[in-house]
Amino acid sequence: MIVMDQIAAMQALMRQYRREGKTIGFVPTMGYLHEGHTSLIDRARAENDIVVLSVFVNPLQFGPNEDFARYPRDFERDRRIAEQHGVDVLFHPEADEMYPEPLTVRAIVQARADVLCGRSRPGHFDGVATVLMKLFNIVMPDRAYFGMKDAQQVAVVDGLIRDLNFPIELVLVPTVREADGLAKSSRNVYLSPQERSEAPALYAALQAAASAVERGERSAAAIRRMVREHIEAHTHAEIDYVEVCSYPDLTPLETLAGTVLIAVAVRFASARLIDNIMIELPKTGEQGDGKGEQACFARS
Ligand code: AMP
Repeated sequence: MIVMDQIAAMQALMRQYRREGKTIGFVPTMGYLHEGHTSLIDRARAENDIVVLSVFVNPLQFGPNEDFARYPRDFERDRRIAEQHGVDVLFHPEADEMYPEPLTVRAIVQARADVLCGRSRPGHFDGVATVLMKLFNIVMPDRAYFGMKDAQQVAVVDGLIRDLNFPIELVLVPTVREADGLAKSSRNVYLSPQERSEAPALYAALQAAASAVERGERSAAAIRRMVREHIEAHTHAEIDYVEVCSYPDLTPLETLAGTVLIAVAVRFASARLIDNIMIELPKTGEQGDGKGEQACFARS
């Protein structure tokens, strides 16, 4: 595995791979790798000649009162895990290599960002889009791999790739969970034992919602209420949002139809957690498939 921290050297290496006709799969991360990340790496490994992993805690996507300084970091561990999963190139730049001077140009995400996490984390997706534009130009991948756990991020990246005509295929990978349903996250290490025992309630609430949809519930208000009540009954967390929206345009829905994202974010004392599920339903006005409500299935 080649470890790189310089942009120019990285671009030279990537150009060489391209000249050799190799396909490049790219997995951008902030490190502190867990099985969610490695499922992206494994998928990239299976589909490309070269797998590039970036580990970069991007200061631009953290708000002033967020956890940039204390975000968990362990590069030696990440390096070991990357190697075990067959990564070819590990890109690990310092912040002053990525941002040597104040930016002349940065991205503003003007759709899909005024709901969900975008509303509670102003500027977050501008920071994500800006660093991804840079990383895409540095790595020049054929495919980029993203986790559905961050569904809004995927929707924004989908818009970014289309708007700016990056010749990159976006590959979505389902959320990897702990045995009790908690979505794997680098931030789970912040949780106290009590919070860790309550945290699976997020996914349990989403699953209860999916069951209600399967039984025929189509009211977004009823689904939101049900998810809220479940989380309030089983955790001490403060609910940031419970939203039901269309995917990928992220328009809030009153009635569930089409591809539906049910997403939650909560604040425990020590960490903010997010989770979501996606459900496929017939579009409004479309006939079901004759099996009534069984036309629905959860994707993530
Ligand atoms: P992060 O390091 O948190 O920025 O995440 C890097 C990538 O890994 C993003 O595309 C995430 O969506 C993805 N990811 C994080 N957690 C999970 C998970 N539990 N399952 C699948 N993908 C994940």
